Amino acid sequence: MLKYVPAMTSVVMEEIPGKVTLAVEISNCRGNCEGCHSPWLREDIGEVLDEAAIDRMFADNFGVNCFLFLGEGKDPETLKRLASYIRSRYGVELAVYSGRMAVEDDFYDVFDYVKVGPYIAALGPLNKTTTNQRLYHHRADITPLFWHRGIDPNAR
Ligand code: SF4
Repeated sequence: MLKYVPAMTSVVMEEIPGKVTLAVEISNCRGNCEGCHSPWLREDIGEVLDEAAIDRMFADNFGVNCFLFLGEGKDPETLKRLASYIRSRYGVELAVYSGRMAVEDDFYDVFDYVKVGPYIAALGPLNKTTTNQRLYHHRADITPLFWHRGIDPNAR
């Protein structure tokens, strides 16, 4: 099962370059980043994320062209199942922010965008050239796109 925090769901422009993105905060984070920006996301909080919840979100947010899982939770099979559902039903691009150093190779088949790397305050988030985090688009590292934009994408 995956859970999300409805009150933190929002449409964002800066997390995925060039996309109008529906960003959904996933709880049960398995990360342990020092300086974590949202420690409550490590807890088992929120509501069940399933196909019905996704349908409601798309009904409420017409026009988005990307769906971002802000975190991957602890149930990778459900994560991938829901991603496939979104692609087949809504035809938008798919993104996941993982706090892990690396993800399994099939993540790059399921998701168009994959962000990896724990948040390390001393190195900074994606928009810092010193960052340890990386955003891949179809396996290509597009992290440098953030370095001249002065934006502050979610530090997950
Ligand atoms: S991945 Fe994000 S939510 Fe999870 S521990 Fe790290 S900073 Fe916190």
